[in-house]
Amino acid sequence: MGRDPRYDILFEPVKIGPVTAKNRFYQVPHCNGMGYRDPTALATMRMIKAEGGWGVVCTEQAEIHPSAEICPYIELRIWDDQDIPMLARIAEGVHRYDALAGLQLCHNGMAAPNFYSREIPMGPADLPVASYTNDPVQARAMDKSDIRNLRRWHRNAALRAKRAGFDIIYVYAGKLLGGPMYFLSRRYNQRTDEYGGSLENRVRLLRELIEETKDAVGDTCAVPCRVSVDELIGEEGLNVAEAQDMIGMLAELPDLWDLTLSGWDNDSQTSRFADEAYQEPFIRGMKQLTTKPVVGVGRFTSPDTMVRMVRQGLMDLIGAARPSIADPFLPNKLAEGREDEIRECIGCNMCVASDFTMSPIRCTQNPSLGEEWRRGWHPERIRAKQSDSRVLIVGSGAAGLEAAMMLGRRGYDLALAEATTILGGRVALERRLPGLGAWGRVADHRIHQISTQPNIEIYRESRLTAEDILGFGFEHVAIATGGIWRRDGVGRRVLKPVPCAGDATVLTPDDLMAGTRPPMGRVLIYDDDHYYMGGVLAELLVQEGYEVTIATPAGDVSNWMHMTMEQHRVQARLIELGVTIRPHRVLAAIKDGAADIACAYTGRIETVEAPSIVVVAGRLPANGLLADLKARQSDWADAGILSVAAIGDALAPGTIAAAVFAGRRYAEDLDAEPVGDAVPFRREIAELTEVEWPAH
Ligand code: ADP
Ligand code: SF4
Repeated sequence: MGRDPRYDILFEPVKIGPVTAKNRFYQVPHCNGMGYRDPTALATMRMIKAEGGWGVVCTEQAEIHPSAEICPYIELRIWDDQDIPMLARIAEGVHRYDALAGLQLCHNGMAAPNFYSREIPMGPADLPVASYTNDPVQARAMDKSDIRNLRRWHRNAALRAKRAGFDIIYVYAGKLLGGPMYFLSRRYNQRTDEYGGSLENRVRLLRELIEETKDAVGDTCAVPCRVSVDELIGEEGLNVAEAQDMIGMLAELPDLWDLTLSGWDNDSQTSRFADEAYQEPFIRGMKQLTTKPVVGVGRFTSPDTMVRMVRQGLMDLIGAARPSIADPFLPNKLAEGREDEIRECIGCNMCVASDFTMSPIRCTQNPSLGEEWRRGWHPERIRAKQSDSRVLIVGSGAAGLEAAMMLGRRGYDLALAEATTILGGRVALERRLPGLGAWGRVADHRIHQISTQPNIEIYRESRLTAEDILGFGFEHVAIATGGIWRRDGVGRRVLKPVPCAGDATVLTPDDLMAGTRPPMGRVLIYDDDHYYMGGVLAELLVQEGYEVTIATPAGDVSNWMHMTMEQHRVQARLIELGVTIRPHRVLAAIKDGAADIACAYTGRIETVEAPSIVVVAGRLPANGLLADLKARQSDWADAGILSVAAIGDALAPGTIAAAVFAGRRYAEDLDAEPVGDAVPFRREIAELTEVEWPAH
């Protein structure tokens, strides 16, 4: 099938200074939790994006100097020549598929607490560092020699990036991560010298860095400038009006303008809080300030939106971090007229959470992400089947669907049995909750793919028993029957069932998703899960007219969502909705019409009126079927069964991302040599240097 001519415009080349991108698909810099620790895994991840058709593939920030490093987060470093080989590997990987390799130079300035280097952070003023964790570290105001040093470090880093083979070398002043943004900012820049005060002065450092980078590498490399156009805090912060003046001042200096929102939480908003193209109002008109190409982002997964961005003169290059993570082959699929196969980003920010948890990047939609080198997984390909065994998958949640799709691709004949009428498991239910509609894409993509695979039989309304399965004669059985929310309050904080009066109304998320409702009036949600469910159910119940209190042992609601950069938005939304939030509270007893909640610090009990309680705490694997089958293990051989395995929530309830990963892993491992006690993935161990033991 050929490309739809409507999308031709997306495949036009774009000249960026001395280099030319072969199309408009531009993977902007994005973090990945691998950085300097997992260089070959990182290089392979970038290479696969190039293979998938992205015209430009950039690295995440590469820290230019130990005076600004954001330990514990794992990014790249370009401190000296020792770093060149690892960076060169990334450029080499990207060049293998004819894409341009970009590198984002970064001096984090006063965003960096420097816990690794122990250097004193520097910024425009004497202020506490603006790191994520309120670190007890203060930055010192840079003097003129500090500024000269910074400019020299930046220039030298640019030269190293060029030697490493990069085509595009960034100057970064965005998201309060690129240090020069602190100079641009009126609230941080309190200087009275020629680097402070007027916008002209606040722009000076950025101008110098662009000029000097162009002078150093601009003959063969493009030099983009990445800035933020709004901080979404009104007049106090950088805003569109000032950004327009700034871009107007430097209009023709960089080879490309890369426009973002600041901070990262605003730049990478989730689907719960923002629709595709949410940055459009902020970048409108910016392109008209310069003749240089512009790249912008906005979780673009729809080719029609991308075309509109170009046609309406908003941007020349379609920037993407998350859409390229969820589907590294998005450009090639469009090029080949396979847009219905695009695995659309669901906007959940599990990828972002990887950076915050310092673990190799993962993606709900793309389980191969971060595993391209470690496990040899590919987002599109998987090795052919190694036997004629037939596989039965029980349960069509994220785990079952992914396992079916990938085993189908391997060529196995298989059956997917689902107890209900709807495929998708918990995704099919959770997508109906407030703000989670886009999450349904996890199921939609896989159901569509499976529907095109003739070797997969789907059986709905088929709640299987052990007896059924023993009668079928499949060689391999995957139990993907999901999990069940606990009603007894056991979760993180409380490990014994909470005492409960016999006639109390206690509901779980499963009850609410199945349509059960408490009597109208007051509801207490007890959230010891800390991810999205408690907050989302609070929203749901308020929408339906309930008076909601949410109590949680944590200091804030949906506490883990700091990792997805949504926590503050959840908290704000619940406050705006009139939800009463009771932090630091542990469920102690459920009574008739009331609950005892204990202070998480003192244990002091208070009784709150609660005619109904929704418990969002731990979950249990729905593994009754597995237990029944295990009880009849002696019958397996006669039934022709070679293996039975629980996957996804049926093994241990977790995130949707974990269930998708489990499905993929099951598909990868079927008929593979067991690894036994070996580490189940490749690692890269840094080469040891010659030791000279310090003499004491
Ligand atoms: P996961 O996240 O691990 O994929 P889900 O809870 O999303 O798990 O999906 C589990 C699915 O399994 C649900 O759709 C459920 O209806 C189905 N299921 C549970 N028990 C059976 C069974 N005995 N036979 C067939 N389907 C089942
Ligand atoms: Fe999109 Fe979620 Fe994947 Fe990130 S983890 S790319 S937000 S689907």
